[in-house]
Amino acid sequence: MACMLIDGKKIAGEIQEELAQEVAALKEKGVTPGLAVILVGEDPASQMYVQMKGRTCKKLGMHSETIILPDATTEQELLQRIDGLNADPRIHGILVQLPLPSHIREDRVIEAIHPDKDVDAFHPYNVGRMFAGSPSFLPATPAGIQQLLLRSGVETAGKRAVVVGRSNIVGKPVAALLMQKGPGGDATVTLAHSRTRDLGQVTREAEILIVAVGKANFISRDMVRPGAVIIDAGTNKVDDPGSEKGYRWVGDVDFEAVKDVCAAITPVPGGVGPMTIAMLMSNTLRAAENTLA
Ligand code: NDP
Repeated sequence: MACMLIDGKKIAGEIQEELAQEVAALKEKGVTPGLAVILVGEDPASQMYVQMKGRTCKKLGMHSETIILPDATTEQELLQRIDGLNADPRIHGILVQLPLPSHIREDRVIEAIHPDKDVDAFHPYNVGRMFAGSPSFLPATPAGIQQLLLRSGVETAGKRAVVVGRSNIVGKPVAALLMQKGPGGDATVTLAHSRTRDLGQVTREAEILIVAVGKANFISRDMVRPGAVIIDAGTNKVDDPGSEKGYRWVGDVDFEAVKDVCAAITPVPGGVGPMTIAMLMSNTLRAAENTLA
């Protein structure tokens, strides 16, 4: 069976081009979308994500502020910085890079961001609106997954969709989006996790299989229904002594083993990853547009 590659890099590039035009139009009305990203500590992966977000903002013509705070920053100090950004009219989106050092309570920080500037959509107000079907912002990775399906012409209505993984940032919200009424939704959704009995039997029912587990090559060929559409959010670093860096990135799905059984699949890297940042930029633009409404 010929399997279609769902090219997230290309689709994210198209979304960024659309966004750049919308940013230019908004600037003509006197508003430059602004995103502030706060990083606490020196985690190298987080530093890289923060840099990428700043660079993409600038590429799209948006205003970008990166605030780097030492690991020893107190929760109170961080909350004060957020308060300042909540009141800053140049800033439309605020994002605190997770994870935070263990002495800072993540929920306090997320709830301190004004819901109108919560472009990660992790604030309970925005989570609630998404589940109720009237979202302000959608969380970036789940929204990116939904866009991959929509823009690849994958019909979700009436389909059996199985999501493996129930994190608050990927699994649960993806399931919520697929079950909403309307385009990119209307699926019959099953959410599986580490306590699911006979996972293979569940995943083999999936016409659309979405995986966010964090284990390299976790989904094997025998767990996939022939003709399924597979979205692989997994991003796992594995040793690769033959490569220049000594490692490479792989997904949660055994790509080589399933690629001739499924109808379509996202690669890793180049699938879900680039969509996450594109959707974050889209949320920042919407937040800025909302100030005119
Ligand atoms: P979490 O670790 O928060 O959640 C993993 C989920 O997988 C849990 O719900 C867990 O179940 C489930 N799980 C673990 N083992 C099994 C098993 N044996 N069988 C079934 N389910 C299992 O991960 P995230 O959702 O944060 O991330 C998942 C992956 O997606 C990671 O590789 C991460 O790097 C990647 N990711 C990629 C992003 C992108 O932009 N491309 C953004 C965010 C994440 P339980 O709840 O029962 O423990």
